[in-house]
Amino acid sequence: MSYVTFGDLRTAAYCPRKLYYRREEDDREPPPEVAAIRALAFRYERSLAAEDAELADEPIAVDPGTYRSRLADARERFGESRWETLCSPEERGVLATGRDCRGVVHKLLTGPLEPSLVSPGRPPERGVWEPQSVAAVAAAKAVAWEHERPVETAVVEYPAYGAIRRIRLGTRRKARYRRALRTVRSLDGPPARTRNRSKCEACSYADRCGVRTRTLRSLLGFG
Ligand code: SF4
Repeated sequence: MSYVTFGDLRTAAYCPRKLYYRREEDDREPPPEVAAIRALAFRYERSLAAEDAELADEPIAVDPGTYRSRLADARERFGESRWETLCSPEERGVLATGRDCRGVVHKLLTGPLEPSLVSPGRPPERGVWEPQSVAAVAAAKAVAWEHERPVETAVVEYPAYGAIRRIRLGTRRKARYRRALRTVRSLDGPPARTRNRSKCEACSYADRCGVRTRTLRSLLGFG
């Protein structure tokens, strides 16, 4: 059986129909601005010490003061030694292959083993979005499989917002991961549209999908 990529799992958890379109168009390359945002995750220490003007030139999505204060909170939460590893991981951009999935782990922290995935997007109020949780579980499972050691946690970073969040691989997260895995493997024709239409607002396939988003409804005077 072929490996399922972390990216496909993430998209399937967002909306299986989106994955169907993405595959049809073979559209898997991230837009160029993603690399610039991900690079922020490798210079947190520099950002913490940066002046407002310097930070204002970075692709950050909050004001410089908020950015520094969020990073300082994260440093406190993770503890000095883990924070150092997080800022300067020994292994970065590692291709990890597990029993079922394969994908790039942006940072692989050791002692204990913990993968970190870096998202270019906005974090939720608390925790991490489900698609990223599913990808993080996949990454943790792949790393565990390769190193033949249990991996209990993973990190998801939203560097544009200075948000760095650790998740624990509990029963519910694992169940959602398995559901996404089944979805990817069983994808055949176009699946039903998501019932959560707020997702369609940010979906690049909304036109093709025939979903009328709120933005369009507002333009037409129905919003
Ligand atoms: S527009 Fe909505 S239903 Fe259609 S693919 Fe995108 S998220 Fe899914």
